[in-house]
Amino acid sequence: MSILIKNGRVIDPANKIDAVLDILIQDNKISKVASHLQASAETIIDATNKIVAPGLVDMHVHLREPGREDKETVLSATAAAAKGGVTSVLAMPNTQPAMDCPKNIALLREIINQDAKVNVFICGAITRGRLGEKLNDILALKKAGVYALSDDGCSVDNDELMLEAFKKAKLAGLLTICHSEDKKLAQKGSINLGFNSTRLGLRGISNEAEYKRVRRDIQLADQAKAALHIAHVSCRESVEIIAQAKKKGILVTCETAPHYFALTDEALLGYDTNMKMNPPLRSKEDLAAIRQGLKKGVIDAIASDHAPHTENEKDIEFERAEFGVVGLETELSVGITELINQEVLGWPELIQKFCFNPARILGIERGKLTAGSFADVVIISEQESWIVERAGLVSKSKNSSFLGRSLKGLVDYTICNGEIVYQR
Ligand SMILES: [Zn+2]
Repeated sequence: MSILIKNGRVIDPANKIDAVLDILIQDNKISKVASHLQASAETIIDATNKIVAPGLVDMHVHLREPGREDKETVLSATAAAAKGGVTSVLAMPNTQPAMDCPKNIALLREIINQDAKVNVFICGAITRGRLGEKLNDILALKKAGVYALSDDGCSVDNDELMLEAFKKAKLAGLLTICHSEDKKLAQKGSINLGFNSTRLGLRGISNEAEYKRVRRDIQLADQAKAALHIAHVSCRESVEIIAQAKKKGILVTCETAPHYFALTDEALLGYDTNMKMNPPLRSKEDLAAIRQGLKKGVIDAIASDHAPHTENEKDIEFERAEFGVVGLETELSVGITELINQEVLGWPELIQKFCFNPARILGIERGKLTAGSFADVVIISEQESWIVERAGLVSKSKNSSFLGRSLKGLVDYTICNGEIVYQR
């Protein structure tokens, strides 16, 4: 198998490349990146006027399998990923059963080996059943091949237990990903606490519920000298706290999701449950802080927090509807529309946050186009626009915040391990 991609604008922040070049792929690896490559290949792709970048590494994805195959499966989620230009995903552990022991991880791995269209890396749970009560055997999880630890969906409330988790994770050489939320402070809210929650008569979730837990998680990780990654940062105070911690040299990284730099809680005025996620869409000031955080490098990565839910779980009264939205198929286009076209980030910075930084944070050899590395590549038409439609989504669930929206940027090809896994 060989593929020659000709004349594209190759953007590879890991190697500080942004130039019109050709790329030769042989078998599953990048063979050469150079201008005017004279080489024969079984497949030749003309990428003139297109962006050629590493495939996206999405470090926050809920595959739902095993357990909730009515929402999504490994097959449907990775097909959605391929369509969105995503070649690697980190599977969050809140499946049924949870990824809290080697046996369950082996079960998921078997499904992945059979069905996955892109690379799937597994995140193990911190506590048994993600209940926040009993620490899992973290060394055993490491041996079973997990790439990180998280109780995502929940935070471990008990400080001592969380400190112990950081210590064990450090011993195992694993990253801990924190869903930083104080559920007591969140007071069973369903949208952002503020003017709009009052106006809608809905219970609100304060910024405090997030940033106080961000602060605690950073303190505990620092005490254990362990690496931590804060998931889905949504509010201005969190950005500030993380910026301060980075200045002090604490081993903290973080991500945000496209909806936090594209939408505010104004989007909830029609009680649209596809605008309901946790953390919630915040205020204009928070959105501006997230954009600044991306620009200044405080926010390292963009991840979808792809969270599929069935119609039955979303098309009900607002406070009973599930939290979460799908995002694999729209994240790149939302990034182009909201960050590149509004001059928040340039192309190399966007690609860095979607590809190289998450790969680096997870310690995986992806997200770059270095000769000899795995051939995970996306080819993008940046000027073309499309309308997000329910029928066009390949994910099993259609709960997108961007339905009906016109977005810029279409994926023409996604290549994963040297194979074309999606072609427009
Ligand atoms: Zn979460």
